[in-house]
Amino acid sequence: MSVQDRFSVLGRKALVTGASRGIGIELCRVLSEAGADIVAVARDESGLAEARAAVEANGRVCLTLPADLGQPDAPERVGREALAAWGTIDILVNNAGVSFPKLLVDQTIAEWDLIQAVNLRAPWLLARTLAPAMIAQKRGKIVNVSSQTSSVALTEHGAYAASKNGLNGLTKVMTAEWAPFNIQANAVCPTVTMTPMATQVWGDPAKLGPMVAKIPAGRVAQPVEVCDVVLFLCATASDMINGQEIFVDGGYTAL
Ligand code: NAP
Repeated sequence: MSVQDRFSVLGRKALVTGASRGIGIELCRVLSEAGADIVAVARDESGLAEARAAVEANGRVCLTLPADLGQPDAPERVGREALAAWGTIDILVNNAGVSFPKLLVDQTIAEWDLIQAVNLRAPWLLARTLAPAMIAQKRGKIVNVSSQTSSVALTEHGAYAASKNGLNGLTKVMTAEWAPFNIQANAVCPTVTMTPMATQVWGDPAKLGPMVAKIPAGRVAQPVEVCDVVLFLCATASDMINGQEIFVDGGYTAL
């Protein structure tokens, strides 16, 4: 197999959640440019239409499945619809996520539950719906978009950190159960990345400044820098990487 083939996802079927904006819509661009057809999932249908246009501009096929992944039955429904349409899904990128930054004393139970439902429960339910077809074909890639907050403590990120630490743990169990079937599951842990979520959480320069000061690279990440790492984890070149947490953080967690 050539270097090009080892780093390609040509002809693969990839399901990307949180595809309507931010890192997710960039994932649709990057994975389709590298040859994948995309199932794009999110609530916002205009954002999904934008994702479809980006995929089609790269000459690939895009199926959009609007869904609120915070609802208990939605992830399995989406997984079943994707399988019904395309027979198998080779790549699952669990990217959809929410964050309601608040001190532990102020976070509401409703916010806590929604964060766990979208960031942690939905990845489990989607993965277990798609895994049997991956197991049958003895090939699959699962990338869970986690966060640097799975490794370092950030104030106002209690519920969010709990969900991302949970996602890292889930990633390891996916590896333990599915690696024998040639399925690789890994977590990607970005630092602050310039998306609508980052604007919501870090938009105040008084917050962002001290954070950037802790990043040895001296800057935040761009969505494409996260997506390129996801692409590597979806390609054959990374077949021996399994159950890992890959930090895309400019060195933040190295200190
Ligand atoms: P974003 O700009 O807010 O986009 C989040 C995506 O998730 C949107 O497409 C949104 O779509 C989707 N989503 C949210 N709630 C959903 C729900 N209930 N059902 C279905 N989809 C839902 O965030 P982002 O920055 O691109 O974040 C992407 C991932 O990276 C998240 O898992 C986040 O935790 C992680 N991350 C981000 C940063 C950062 O600084 N940006 C850093 C570390 C990790 P709809 O609203 O259309 O449903």
